[in-house]
Amino acid sequence: MVLLTPGPVEIHERVLKALSEGIASHRSETYRNWHCEAVERLKRISGLRDGSVYLIPGSGTTAVDAMIYSVLAPGEKVLAYIVGEFGRRAVNTMKARGLNVRLLEEPWGKAIRIERLKEALEEDSYDAVFIVHNETSTGVANRTLREAAELVHKHGAILLVDSVSGFAGERLYMDDWGVDVVATATQKCLAAPPGLGIVMVKSDVVERIEKVSKESPPPPSINLSLYEKFLAKCETPFTPPVNVVRALVEALRLIEEEGGIEARYREQEMRASRFYSVIDAAGLDTLAEKSARSYTVAAVRLPEGVRAPEVKKRMAELGFEIAGGMGEYREKVVRVGLMGAINADIVEAAARSLVEIIQELSRG
Ligand code: PLP
Repeated sequence: MVLLTPGPVEIHERVLKALSEGIASHRSETYRNWHCEAVERLKRISGLRDGSVYLIPGSGTTAVDAMIYSVLAPGEKVLAYIVGEFGRRAVNTMKARGLNVRLLEEPWGKAIRIERLKEALEEDSYDAVFIVHNETSTGVANRTLREAAELVHKHGAILLVDSVSGFAGERLYMDDWGVDVVATATQKCLAAPPGLGIVMVKSDVVERIEKVSKESPPPPSINLSLYEKFLAKCETPFTPPVNVVRALVEALRLIEEEGGIEARYREQEMRASRFYSVIDAAGLDTLAEKSARSYTVAAVRLPEGVRAPEVKKRMAELGFEIAGGMGEYREKVVRVGLMGAINADIVEAAARSLVEIIQELSRG
């Protein structure tokens, strides 16, 4: 079975081997070397020259929670510009933290619009703006983060980004674009096993985190101020999944060996182009508007009468594990992950099988 879900994804055999070999005390020199290497490599990939990278036991949700609870204090004003389910979930976390949230939304399938962001920022002032880089529930990539960051800074706020399914697959250059905080996880485009959330912050955000921690400390497990202290020693405050850290190092080495992050971006783009060509040629459509189709997760609309669980089952019989839709699209859409240790031929074969299954089911 080939894992083509929107995470976890197939991992390289070297990463799998590293996972099984990688047990060490989290206070040992061996562990500290892994931790340091992971942090340095993540900095290179994210284009973060001056700032901190935190490895947090947990998943993407933990990373998003840590970002929200550690960077923002209760009462602060946030503009959340959301385009799907994962944006909605982050907003729930913001409310739980006691933030003053203004919601700006696009219909599912649409990307954010810079003009709307501009208007909203002109109408009111905010401490922070939140955007999901790649909305996994709809297969939409927000590729205007650079323009968004520019506007956000012009209005004196900072930009927080959930890039759980975008990071290392959809372009993002933290320093050059001015993205202040990024949350991601190991089990998506990084093609490592699940087990770690990752938060990357620019250096001035580190000062903010210290202040927030003094005034309204988040729960210890997601308090990035504690992670910052231990980062100086290349450790975490609490026991991390040490073997996942070791596996992550291997996955990051592979990115470099395969030509670096730019080569990885091109690979994702090529896989996506092969996938969408097959879908388009068959007259099928995606939930995402064409210009914002994600390079990492494709959400294919199903014709009337064809339901996601049946399509998923038939794909599994052919050896492809895919996912259904989310929210109101649970049964109307199937989602195919284009990430991980696979290649464009596998992606295209999956697209062809998907088309055949959908056509057969729609004939009844
Ligand atoms: N944010 C986005 C955009 C995601 O795609 C996901 C998971 O798919 C999450 C957050 C939550 O990540 P996790 O399931 O690792 O907790």
